[in-house]
Amino acid sequence: MIREPMVFAGMSDISGKVRGKAFPVSALEKRSVRGVGWTPTNVQITCFDVIAESPFGALGDLLLIPDRDTHACVDFGDGSPPFNLTLGNIVSLENEPWECCTRSILISALARLEAVTGLRLKAAFEHEFHLAGEPAQPGEAYTHKGYRNNVAFGETAMAALEAAGIGTDTFMREYGPDQYEITVDPEVGVQAADSATILRELVYASADRHDRRASFSPLRSPDAVGNGVHIHMSFLDGNGKPATYDHGNPFGMAETTGAFIAGVLKYLDSILALTAPSVISYLRLTPHRWSAAYNNLGFRDREASVRICPVTAVDQDSIGKQYNFEFRAADGAASPHLALAAIVHAGVQGIEEQLAPPEPTEEDLSVLDDRTLANRGYARLPQTLDDALQRFAANKTVTGWFPERFSQIYHDHKRGELEHLRDLDNDERCAAYEKVY
Ligand code: GLU
Ligand code: MG
Repeated sequence: MIREPMVFAGMSDISGKVRGKAFPVSALEKRSVRGVGWTPTNVQITCFDVIAESPFGALGDLLLIPDRDTHACVDFGDGSPPFNLTLGNIVSLENEPWECCTRSILISALARLEAVTGLRLKAAFEHEFHLAGEPAQPGEAYTHKGYRNNVAFGETAMAALEAAGIGTDTFMREYGPDQYEITVDPEVGVQAADSATILRELVYASADRHDRRASFSPLRSPDAVGNGVHIHMSFLDGNGKPATYDHGNPFGMAETTGAFIAGVLKYLDSILALTAPSVISYLRLTPHRWSAAYNNLGFRDREASVRICPVTAVDQDSIGKQYNFEFRAADGAASPHLALAAIVHAGVQGIEEQLAPPEPTEEDLSVLDDRTLANRGYARLPQTLDDALQRFAANKTVTGWFPERFSQIYHDHKRGELEHLRDLDNDERCAAYEKVY
């Protein structure tokens, strides 16, 4: 059969989906300059394909310009068309970043970090997901047997990541039924979010090739174990040296690290709508699910919104290289670019406000009453997407980090999603999200 090899140029949008267009691979060089045409209202296509209220209507034209540095071409070696994906930026016809381009939004957040601190961000997205369908039998959490059940898929996914230039770390059978986790090497700047976006597409593609369907949906059913996306972060100084750790400070947080984390926690309730953006994300963000339920920093504690991660090194230099902290209140319904942009802006805001480093908790906050929590500076995170959206829209500091119309457009997009699910119960909502993420 005749076939023209094609590459798909796309971007993870507000819905966290990669949307774009394909063209012959032979045109990639030309298209990297000229781009492909794109339509503003596409940004209001929700994850369920319903179009939310759009200020653009049928009007306007944009360009999606592929960034060839992101090009991932993976031949699975089974005769199927290679996985061929390039991410890019969406710009106006005058070549200005578009107000809803998630990648441009992240690039400007990272530029703010560098302008304010001289630091660059190194990040790695740790993904949990499950293989949809009738789950394998219980009793297989973290087991070798559970791992063996889908090892062929795992080996394909790991090989595909390596072929795409994404450094692999581990593949594991997580706690939930048919739940797996992949961790990858950290990368500097926007590349970390690019790789997270490509990773999800590669995991889908790898599962397809083993007749399974992978799902990054935050919850497969209301009582299930959640799928989190944990974003690990550290800083590099102007010479490329680690700058996150200071052994003289409590819990090893360098001054900027402490203020950055304090900013993330101070603004967490108002950025949650961007990092945990589905209706069912809020069923996951409840106590005792090892996700995040309060605006707290934990030291080696998996029930904290931000966690200082353990290191294995013993000498100070190596500890400095390994030292990182992890944001746990994110999930696979979020665009990696938007989630990271929100976290970075909140962190830089904390640095600008010279916030004191948070005191890490090492206890169960859910047993404390609201007054005790409030006295200690803690609050339960928003418990619905509706509440999280209202806090986002009402926080002028937070909306001010984004292009002028972005917060309204984002808000309207998510309202469209909420409306679509309004008459469903939580079981039905989980089932709906499992199909689309
Ligand atoms: N599955 C948990 C979550 O929803 C995380 C478990 C872990 O610590 O790896 O975030
Ligand atoms: Mg995990």
